[in-house]
Amino acid sequence: MKSEELEPVFVEYVPMDLAGGILYVSMEYATASHQCACGCGVRIVTPLGPADWILTFDGQVTLSPSVGNGQFPCGSHYLIRKNRVVWCKPMTRSAALATHTLDTAQRAQTYGDVAPRAGVLRKLSRWLRRLLGRS
Ligand SMILES: [Zn+2]
Repeated sequence: MKSEELEPVFVEYVPMDLAGGILYVSMEYATASHQCACGCGVRIVTPLGPADWILTFDGQVTLSPSVGNGQFPCGSHYLIRKNRVVWCKPMTRSAALATHTLDTAQRAQTYGDVAPRAGVLRKLSRWLRRLLGRS
């Protein structure tokens, strides 16, 4: 079913089976996940960070930039603004590839050649704290 709104639910771990109409936000792993708003059922994972998506929460969520699913058959493309799904022109596969190339370059510029995920950094941080005897 097509979603016109996504309700934010804050979790540590994102469930395997996502419910439609929910935006699962894991601050622990710096990701937001949802079922594609078009209703096709594809799992959409948006990593959060300075070179990825920016999530704003003021009681409602806004995710920037848009979610472009040109790599999936539906090709849906939308914004999430204050929980609302704002539909954009569908994204073609070539537009998705161009965006992916640009995103990859932006990540390399922001994080260096290797882009460690926030979850990896947290695990490393925990391991170091345990090693150093700090909690
Ligand atoms: Zn879809």
